[in-house]
Amino acid sequence: MQYTVTKTTNTTYKFYHIEKESLTYNEWWIKARAKQRKLNKCGKCKKPFIIGEKMSLAFSHKSLNQVLCNDCADELLEKGDI
Ligand SMILES: [Zn+2]
Repeated sequence: MQYTVTKTTNTTYKFYHIEKESLTYNEWWIKARAKQRKLNKCGKCKKPFIIGEKMSLAFSHKSLNQVLCNDCADELLEKGDI
């Protein structure tokens, strides 16, 4: 007898700075970064990036920096929580 449990983990990130549109999702990025930390989608909404899309880099003291889509970067910056 066996059963499968799906575990969901929520992580709260606190950012001190967001570098808006500082990165571009391109072939180089896919080769260099996307595969190693699954950096092929937004770290917040999980929307996959498309080739040529500008990405924002969010810096955190306590965790790895996160790559965000610009919608999420705007949302965080508008909240003024940075
Ligand atoms: Zn997003």
